[in-house]
Amino acid sequence: LLNRTVRDIDNDLNVSFEFFPPNSPAMEDTLWGSIERLAPLNPSFVSVTYGAGSGTRDRTHGVIKRIQKDTGLIAAPHLTCIDAGREELIDIAKDYWESGVRHIVALRGDLPNNSKKPDMYANDLVELLKGVADFDISVAAYPETHPEAPNAQFDLVNLKRKVDAGANRAITQFFFDMDSYLRFRDRCVAVGIDVEIVPGILPVSNFATLKRFADMTNVNVPDWMGKMYEGLDDDPTTRNMVGANIAMEQVKILRSEGVNDFHFYTLNRSELTYAICHTLGVRP
Ligand code: FAD
Repeated sequence: LLNRTVRDIDNDLNVSFEFFPPNSPAMEDTLWGSIERLAPLNPSFVSVTYGAGSGTRDRTHGVIKRIQKDTGLIAAPHLTCIDAGREELIDIAKDYWESGVRHIVALRGDLPNNSKKPDMYANDLVELLKGVADFDISVAAYPETHPEAPNAQFDLVNLKRKVDAGANRAITQFFFDMDSYLRFRDRCVAVGIDVEIVPGILPVSNFATLKRFADMTNVNVPDWMGKMYEGLDDDPTTRNMVGANIAMEQVKILRSEGVNDFHFYTLNRSELTYAICHTLGVRP
């Protein structure tokens, strides 16, 4: 019994980790060091982002292939549809399936400034992918509403369309206001969305960067959080501790609200995510 981990007991608990393709040799080392550290936590999948419009899908695929080869983990590429036509997307999906990819995070991608109305939305991409093969598909969800949506109900109906098209789970934008997630989850159930609404957890090491990103993405950063990071601009060690503490509180509350699946925005770092998983009971 002593050898049993908390996870054996909590065997309904699933974590997943998100990474991005590195763009320098130093970042490359950081990424692979992080994957090596986090892989023994046996995530249900790991995902690798793709920069829409950057033309670097090969880099995403390169990281996916190496994760599959080196770790045997289920590796899910993010795929966006604003910067590719239908035929190209079908070819990409076929290539992915042939190279052993079974899980895709299907997204529209952010629109470039002043762009026209897009030809495709994420629900169209889900439908297209399901037409190619029976992929396991994750889509994005926004507890505090996507910035372009005219209102929260419109955005919720959009999520339902993605699920009706075949998405197997939704991963949320990061959030710090627990009520916004919990209310959103209730509203999903009320409209008949029957997949897991997996909370996206962002452990925050750099508050200034977070603020900028949160403003762009319509995420509420509560005042108490700003106060927690006050005076720490030149103190990354303490900032990390504060960030881990906030996220540990977050997952504790979510767990007590019956959440079993957690997706971590690792930003290619392992320390905070590893510690937070440890407190959840997810251990090697
Ligand atoms: P959609 O679900 O298509 O929704 C986009 C907006 O359009 C919403 O406001 C929706 O309400 C609205 N809408 C939907 N259908 C219609 C319609 N028919 N008419 C009018 N409006 C409509 N971006 C990247 O570039 N690369 C990544 O790797 C990446 N990974 C992400 C991972 C997660 C977990 C999340 C939450 C986001 C990620 N993003 C990524 C960001 C994402 O691409 C942007 O938020 C994008 O603006 C919306 O993508 P979506 O898939 O949610 O789009």
